[in-house]
Amino acid sequence: PVRVRFCPSPTGNPHVGLVRTALFNWAYARHTGGTMVFRIEDTDAARDSEESYQQLLDSMRWLGLDWDEGPEVGGPHAPYRQSERMDLYKDVAEKLLAAGHAYHCYCSTEELDARRDAARAAGKPSGYDGHCRDLTGEQKEAYEAEGRPAIVRFRMPDEAITFTDLVRGEITVQPENVPDYGIVRANGAPLYTLVNPVDDALMAITHVLRGEDLLSSTPRQIALYRALISLGIAKEIPAFGHLPYVMGEGNKKLSKRDPQASLNVYRERGFLPEGLLNYLSLLGWSFSADQDIFTVPELIEKFDVADVNANPARFDLKKAESINADHIRLLDPKAFADACEPWLTAPHANWAPEDFDRAAWEAIAPHAQTRVTVLSDITANVDFLFRAEPVEDEASWAKAMKGDPAALLTSARATLEAADWSDPESLKNAVLAAGEEHGLKLGKAQAPVRVAVTGRTVGLPLFESLEILGKDKTLTRIDAALA
Ligand code: GLU
Repeated sequence: PVRVRFCPSPTGNPHVGLVRTALFNWAYARHTGGTMVFRIEDTDAARDSEESYQQLLDSMRWLGLDWDEGPEVGGPHAPYRQSERMDLYKDVAEKLLAAGHAYHCYCSTEELDARRDAARAAGKPSGYDGHCRDLTGEQKEAYEAEGRPAIVRFRMPDEAITFTDLVRGEITVQPENVPDYGIVRANGAPLYTLVNPVDDALMAITHVLRGEDLLSSTPRQIALYRALISLGIAKEIPAFGHLPYVMGEGNKKLSKRDPQASLNVYRERGFLPEGLLNYLSLLGWSFSADQDIFTVPELIEKFDVADVNANPARFDLKKAESINADHIRLLDPKAFADACEPWLTAPHANWAPEDFDRAAWEAIAPHAQTRVTVLSDITANVDFLFRAEPVEDEASWAKAMKGDPAALLTSARATLEAADWSDPESLKNAVLAAGEEHGLKLGKAQAPVRVAVTGRTVGLPLFESLEILGKDKTLTRIDAALA
């Protein structure tokens, strides 16, 4: 059975690339009926933070990405935070040393740098040169006597490593390109290079799906895996699939620091989780040639890592917004009304939270649902309902009130007063009739009414808006405009 893992380090804010990785792992687990393992790689105390950890959990929940093993849910391989697994890593490092798969390296940073520079100058490979690979007992003793600190280095095999990447196909790496590498610091702290594959082995991970930036660590991890298998610690090497880079503005790799890259930005703007998931799943994968809007169950049904494209994916904000807008339209009216409510009751400058009126909101919501791209758009669409007075937007007034709108507004006030306020059609006929008195078509006649009542030149269907706002407020606002 498939066992995938999502294993972020809790640093900084969750970003788009990270979420895409989580999503692909999750979709693959759900598609195959496998297991999603959530592991926290918090072995770098200097960079990891509790706040980032909490944000990761919160973001996963918001997106609806759940996990079968991991923090808070537990599981047979607990604990799932690497900071709580240090004894395990120490034990494995000792076994690797004892079996000769790893060795102590006494080279100082200065010595390593000097030899690297010399190798470069001579046009030779500049990775670790194997200096401490085969030290004699005497040499080791001499170094120990000097009091030199030692790191633990993994001994790479001297032959090429070949593996079949699930996304990229067969990849072969020559030994000169993968020198021996450090797995434990001189102070005893295990490194990512050790703990990540060790946990994948101990947690019986079958598929490693992760970003292309980690491709270069795969040959090293495969070699380590082979050593773990020979020690009886691992059973088999997982399959690896490296997800393509996500390119941002100017066709540059989307960097964590890019404002477009932060998950929180989308959440705060009012992307729906399912809209964002839909869009993110298209970064390196496609649903079908002629359909790019789909639900989460459809994604699960269809997603296969074999269909992931190796080419870089382009992050396209416009497309993300348009997909989100489509998902907003797919909500049933009640769900849409509920989803917007936090934006309508948040303390913001436009009106007091207690002036929010749920009944009016539910009445207008279906008209607004087709017009918003992200949920935060909603406030500008309906503020006329909850504010004591419409927003004063001079540009709108100037535009709609060209010529002399007073005569039209005076007529409209009279016809509207006499209209049937339970029927938007009657309100429309009232404005139509007022326009006719002045030789104006409906479009021209309704513009000043809209601005007087809502403060804006464009907005939701006007006559439904007037009906929901009500007769008193509508007439009062026209009076105020005329005054
Ligand atoms: N903790 C690693 C990272 O955040 C995980 C890499 C992997 O998926 O192997 O980059």
